This record gives sequence, C-alpha cells and structure tokens, in this order.
Amino acid sequence: MRERFVIIGGGFGGLACARELGDTKHSVTVIDRRNHNLFQPLLYQVATAALSPADIAEPIRRTLGRYRNINMIMAEVIGIDAQSRQVLLDGNDRVDFDRLVIATGSEYNYFGKDGWRANAPGMKTIHEARQIRQRLLSSFEKAERAHDEQEKRNLLTYVVIGGGPTGVEMAGAISELGRFMINRDFRNIQLDQLKVILIEAGPRILAAFPEKLTEYARHYLEKIGVEVRTGEKVLDVTSEGVMVGFEFIRTGCIVWGAGVKASPAHRWLGLDAVPGGRIPVDRRLQVVGHRNIFALGDTANFTGTDGKPLPGLAQVAKQQGIYLGRLLKNQGADSAAFEFKNRGNTAVIGRNAAIFDFGNWTLKGRAAWFLWAFVHVYLLINFEKRILVSIQWIWRYLTRQRGARLIEEGSIGKIDESVPSVVYSVTGPGGDR
Ligand SMILES: Cc1cc2nc3c(=O)[nH]c(=O)nc-3n(C[C@H](O)[C@H](O)[C@H](O)COP(=O)(O)OP(=O)(O)OC[C@H]3O[C@@H](n4cnc5c(N)ncnc54)[C@H](O)[C@@H]3O)c2cc1C
Repeated sequence: MRERFVIIGGGFGGLACARELGDTKHSVTVIDRRNHNLFQPLLYQVATAALSPADIAEPIRRTLGRYRNINMIMAEVIGIDAQSRQVLLDGNDRVDFDRLVIATGSEYNYFGKDGWRANAPGMKTIHEARQIRQRLLSSFEKAERAHDEQEKRNLLTYVVIGGGPTGVEMAGAISELGRFMINRDFRNIQLDQLKVILIEAGPRILAAFPEKLTEYARHYLEKIGVEVRTGEKVLDVTSEGVMVGFEFIRTGCIVWGAGVKASPAHRWLGLDAVPGGRIPVDRRLQVVGHRNIFALGDTANFTGTDGKPLPGLAQVAKQQGIYLGRLLKNQGADSAAFEFKNRGNTAVIGRNAAIFDFGNWTLKGRAAWFLWAFVHVYLLINFEKRILVSIQWIWRYLTRQRGARLIEEGSIGKIDESVPSVVYSVTGPGGDR
C-alpha cells in the first residue's frame, strides 16, 4: 500500500530517515523551517573563523532531490492535528499524513532567562555562529584602536558559559585564535591582555566523560591560556559582561553553551513531556499513545539498555533515522526494537588535543585529535564537503591560518539583536551541546 510519510525536521535524524525511504513506492514529505541541513558539530569552527558557513551546511533539496518520491517544504511547523492526521504549518497550511516522524531536534536552554540570549548567543544556527564570529573579531579590532589599557583588557576578555563539549571546544578555539592573531597580525595589543574564561556551574568540566579525561582537558586548556572556573554560577548576563557570584566580568564576547532543551513538539501532541522536554517513545520509536506518530533524535526520549535516556548526539539521531526509515519502508514487518550502538563520545580541546571515550577504553592527545578530524570529515554530508573541509584543515594545520576571518561591513561595534527568540523546553543527559 502506498503511504504518505511526513518527516518534520531535515537534521541528522530526519534526513537519515528520508534517505531510507527514497526511491520507494511511498510518498515522503520533509518539512523544515530552514532550507539546509547543518553539521552542528563543526559550528564552533564557523564561530572561530576556521570554516565558512557553506562548508558545513547543505541545501536539503540538493540532498534529497535525486529521490523522485520525496518532496520538501520549507515552513515552520506550528502544530499537529493527530485526530485528522494533519501537520499545521505557518501561513495556515496543512499537510496530510498516514505516518508522521517528528525529528525537530533541540535548542539552547537559558533556564528561564531568555533575555540573556541576545548577549550570549548559543551555537545552534549559522546565524548565531556568524554573530559570535562577528563579535569576536570586532572586539580584537576595537582593542587594537583602544587607548585605555583597561578597555583593551575588557575587550579582550572572552567568557564561555558551560563546560560541556561545546564550551570546551569554543574556549580552546578562541584562545588559539587570539594567540595566533595577536602574535602575528596585531601591533597594539599583547598576549597578556587576552583572557578566555570558561565557567561551569558543576564540579568539573566535561562531566559526561571519565574523570581522567576531564583532568587532561583542564590541563590542556590551562596550558593554552584558558582560565577554567568550576563550581561557579552565572547570575546575570548583560551587554557589558557577566555576573559571577559577586564579580562582574566585563567582556568583548560571551558564548552560551550551558544546556539544551528539546523542541516543543510534545506540546503539539498535548503530551506531558519527560524531564528534558522530550517526547516519550517506545522501543520502536513510536510516540506513547499515538499509533501513527514516531519521534527520534534529540526530541525523543528513548531509554537505553542502562535504563538512562540516550544522550542528544548526532550518532543517536542518525542511527534512529536509519532504523525508523527501514521500519516504515517494511511497514513494520521487521519489528525488532531499536538498539543504539555507541561509536564513542568525543570532544576536541585544541590543535592536536581531543578526547575519546569508547566505554571500555579511552584515547586522548594527538592521536585522538587525528581520529576526531577523520570522523568529522567522514560524517560530513557529501563527498564535496569532505574534500573541501579536508583541504582547509590540512592547510590550516600546516600554516595555522584561519581563512574565514571576515567582519561584515557596517557591523563593527554594533550588537545584532536579531537572534531568533524561539522558546523551547528542557534537556537529557549529554545534551549540553
Ligand atoms: C554546537 C554543537 C556541537 C555538537 N557536536 C556534536 C558532536 O561532536 N557529536 C555529536 O554526536 N553530536 C553533537 N552535537 C549534537 C547533534 O548535533 C545533535 O544531537 C543532532 O543534531 C540531533 O539530530 P536531530 O535530527 O534530532 O536534530 P537536528 O539535527 O537539530 O535537526 C532538527 C531539524 O528540525 C528543524 N525544525 C525544528 N523545529 C522545527 C519546526 N517547528 N518547523 C520546521 N522545522 C523545524 C530544524 O530546522 C532542524 O533542521 C552538537 C550540537 C551542537 C549544537
């Protein structure tokens, strides 16, 4: 029987699912609010001028265009009418479905302080990464022109909030970028004026990793000039800086990496979300209480074999997308439960330094960094991106140059307030990305 499958979200999970359903007798519609699939693990490289946005984003139509049975709609989903089996879009449109897949991912969590978002962007979209890059590079230019020593120091102080993988990656990359630029390209600012502060409320950074890897990461960060502060809570964020305890830190740029929350999709179904705002699903990713609706990736709450929810990771979303695509293709004939195969958890700390946790064994240092680079290039969406990013990384490795150090005209000194103000709900373990 020919069925109408609708997939909300063209991210890691949604695309993997759609591809499995490509060139089948079924009709497939992918709906996404943006026209591109984004490789979020490398967003921090856009924010720190190592890569350009187009290196890590690919139009969804380009990826799916070869499958004649797949249609793409660029629209914001605002609700689901489960009774009449329709997805509600902005502009009063509706899309009918026989089976629906929700793969809407997650968003940064400001823990009720959404006003902080404009001053401390997270890294979920190209817009936010470019905004951080803009502020970062502008602050160096302003410091170069500043006459007052204290003003220079304030401009060259960078605060990263959240000691998870994203915060660690950002802090390391900002420090390395700053040191390189000050040593080589600037004349009126000195290395001792640069300060990168990583603030984590918990007792240690990279809490999802074994303690010995955390220690290694901390030492490495300190070696490259990052001040790591654990057990300290951010109390306020303003356009001037960050309040931590009784101290106000004036800063040139603030980056938010302190937590994510699932998309609001559970509200569309009138469900009580589990902690993290995630949609409860059964062993076959079927939404509890809805026979024809499935959820996967960051927005779904799937309990792993250890009794804990699977973390918000690309590998989870991708594996679930492939599993669900096959399940739907075979119309449930293959009813084995989804099983997550952990390929290892990783974080990059700086040039030549990364960590890997494979469960039974771990890896750190230069070997881990090469493995990290290999895995991330391999995971990019197509061959063209793999080649482009590989060439740039090799060039950068040899020269330490960063090719995307561009400040867009007319923006120096201005704070762009136009970060989308979408409001979502809470996170699951490992979901600090
Ligand atoms: C900075 C950063 C670094 C990361 N690094 C790593 C890493 O190194 N390794 C790793 O495994 N994971 C990493 N992650 C996590 C990983 O990116 C996510 O787990 C993964 O993207 C989840 O896939 P998904 O398909 O569930 O959602 P996503 O890939 O986020 O896709 C969701 C899609 O849904 C669309 N959407 C959402 N709401 C709507 C709506 N209302 N209407 C229409 N469309 C909508 C979005 O536009 C998006 O395209 C990182 C995340 C971030 C932010």
